[in-house]
This record gives sequence, structure tokens and C-alpha cells, in this order.
Amino acid sequence: MSEKEIKAKTETPMLDELKTGPWPSFVADLERYSEKKPAVGQLLGQLEQSYEDRWNYWQGTVLNVDGYGGGVIARYSELGEQYPDIAQFHTIRVIPPPGWVYSTEKLRELCDIWEKHSAGIMQLHGMTGDILLLGTDNKTTFEAAEELMEKGWDLGGSGPALRTLACCVGEARCEAACFDTMALTKHLTDNYISELHRPELPYKYKFKLSGCANDCAASMQRSDMPVIGTWRGAMQINQDEVGKFIDDKGIEFVIDNVLTRCPTNCISLKGKTIDVDNDNCVRCMHCINVMHRALKPGKDRGATILIGGKRTLKIGDTMSSVLVPFMPLKTEEDFTKLTDLIDSIWEFWGDNGLEHERIGEFIARVGLGTFLEGIGLEPDPQMINQPRTSPYIKFEELTGSKIDGEPEHNPAVSNEEGEMAEKAI
Ligand code: SF4
Ligand code: SF4
Repeated sequence: MSEKEIKAKTETPMLDELKTGPWPSFVADLERYSEKKPAVGQLLGQLEQSYEDRWNYWQGTVLNVDGYGGGVIARYSELGEQYPDIAQFHTIRVIPPPGWVYSTEKLRELCDIWEKHSAGIMQLHGMTGDILLLGTDNKTTFEAAEELMEKGWDLGGSGPALRTLACCVGEARCEAACFDTMALTKHLTDNYISELHRPELPYKYKFKLSGCANDCAASMQRSDMPVIGTWRGAMQINQDEVGKFIDDKGIEFVIDNVLTRCPTNCISLKGKTIDVDNDNCVRCMHCINVMHRALKPGKDRGATILIGGKRTLKIGDTMSSVLVPFMPLKTEEDFTKLTDLIDSIWEFWGDNGLEHERIGEFIARVGLGTFLEGIGLEPDPQMINQPRTSPYIKFEELTGSKIDGEPEHNPAVSNEEGEMAEKAI
């Protein structure tokens, strides 16, 4: 930035432009709020200056509440002289309830604490999934954190640590859910609260949990370890509802919007009934989304555990690889199997990862084979994008009736005993 004299803005013509669209405007909201909190008016003034100069006037640093190694995103204004009320303008990350389901009482409590100690701006929710509370200074950050904790709230993660978890609403409100996303989010948060509060990993590590392949938590784009609900065996079909759907929408609609859009062409019509070739269904959820009364995920439900997701990493958009094709997630014992896996990943990555190297970048550097050996997991064909056409997959015939019989095996999800027709080499 070239040296020039900057004065506090009294007019904000560029921000005013943002009020003219047909959608709700954050500028109009903040202007209204600035009548109560002058700091918010100064915030808009600095933003106008940033637009004019195309320059970010915030400087970041670290500010820790006692006993925590993260959770506060400290920001200092370079224009503190012009805008003294926002010279320090920090953000506190707070862990939200799983699935972002609040009571109005808790929301009011949060608003009251925030209005008392800060500029009173809240963001629900940040990219991490946290509740973001904006606008404290060096003193009120501690006062606000104290009060939040007294009322049972806790600070979220930041820095090279486990980050605050996020999940879709799952079984609480969604019939498509294949596991209880909220229960697992709570379990992992409780189990790893120390790793969340005290950075001790090579870099950040995020979990996002979606109850099915619709992936409403955008776990593959947003996390290092997506957990996505799926099922084994046959999809549930209610043929009466299939018939009603066809009567209502017409056969062409079903052909155009269900059959031809199945990615593996594994769904067919026989008169007014539907047949699914479960061995070739990749559990993408498309047909279930369209005909949700007639079709449902199968009864044997669990999740696929993926690794190395997130767009964008330093190595590009990895969007994750399958690590465990199917893991039941119903009991405490199932949850323990998952945490054992996470522990072994963190141990190997912690010992061998570089500073600021996320798990997907680490796997790309050391290779998937080395990584699997390091964490003690057998290679599996489902870890490969197109196992049927990959020369690294060896097909072996299974003994017994597993291939011929109903539907013990499918290419997307192995059965519990891992009785697969393919083998990764
Ligand atoms: Fe429902 Fe699936 Fe979306 Fe979760 S990801 S809310 S289970 S549709
Ligand atoms: Fe096809 Fe299975 Fe996807 Fe339905 S869920 S569209 S049957 S792959």
C-alpha cells in the first residue's frame, strides 16, 4: 500500500450499492445495528476503505483464553486511529450443538452474552461449523469466554488441532439417515476435546458427518475425514408406493428422472414395479430422493469412512478416498472401533507429517500403500476410484454362494466379513 492519509469515512457509497439488490443485505442490517453499537458503524467505515483501496486492513495474531490453545481468532485493525472502537476486533469460536439444533432459550442466552461483551455480531455458522461471535477486545474476550463457559458453552478449535465437528441433522429429522450423526458428533467431540482445545497435530483435522450420500454436511469438500452413511444388502422397496408414484407422475417421468439417471443403470421397471440390481447399486441416493415414499435405504446401515478430503488443499481438490467401505455405527463398541482407527491415523501422521501438512497431502506424499501399512489397515479395492478397470486389482472367485446368492456382495460396500470378489494388490 502506498502511503496516503486515510480519514474515517462518513459516507459509504460502495456499501450502499450492496443494499440495492432484491436480497437481504448485511449492510442494511449492520447499519441498523450501528445505532446501538457505534463499533459496527466503524466496521462499515473500514470495510468501505478496504473496497476503495482493495486492501485488507486486518492483522491476525493469537490470543488464548487460560487453559486453551485456540478458539479465539484475534484481529487488530491497521486503521485503529481512524476507527478506535474496532482497533481490537476478535472472534470467538463456540462449539454448536450437533446438527445445529438450538432451543430458543439457548439462542437468547448466546445473544445476551454476546451483546453484553462485544459488538454483538454473530455468524451462524462459519465454514468450520462453529458459532462465530465477532467483536471483542483483549479484555472482553476473556470476560465473554468466562460467561460462555459458566453457562455450559465451550470454545471451538483453531490452529493445528482437531476442529469443531459438524454434521447433518441425521436421524433427528431425516428418514434417509443411515446412522445417528448427532450421537457420533457428540461422542467424537467428547472423546477428543483435549485435541480440540490444545493444538498438537501437524495441522488442522476436520470431521464432517453426513447421514447418507446426499452429503448435506458437504463432508467431502469440507473435511479431512468425511463419514458418510450408507447401507449393505438390498434397498427397501414398497411396490404399492411405486405403483402410486407411477400413477401420479406417469411412466415417462420415472424413466426420465429415475431410471436413466441411475449412474450404474441398475434400476429397472417391470410393469408398475421396480427392480434394483443391488450388487451394482452404488448407494448414490438419487432414486430414493425422487421416490422417497417408495424407496428407502436398506436395513443394514452404517457409514463409509473416507480420508484426505477438502477442497482445496495445497495439492488440489482431493475430495477424499474411501478408507473403510462399511462400518456399523450403532453401539459404543462400533464408536470405539472408529476412535481406534482415528488414533492410529493421528499417531502415524503425528510422527511423520510435516508442519502444515494436512492428512490428504501427507497421504499424497508418502503414498496410500505406506499410509495403510503405517496405520495397520489392509488395502481394499474400494479405495480405488474404478476398481473394475484398474490393473492393480486382482479378481478372485469367492467360494460358496456369496456371489451367486442374494445380496451379500456389492461393488460399493463389502459385507461385514470383508468377503470380497476383488482384492487390491
Ligand atoms: Fe438427510 Fe442424508 Fe441430508 Fe443427512 S445427508 S440430512 S441423512 S439427506
Ligand atoms: Fe441407482 Fe442405487 Fe443410485 Fe438408486 S441408489 S440411482 S439404484 S445407484
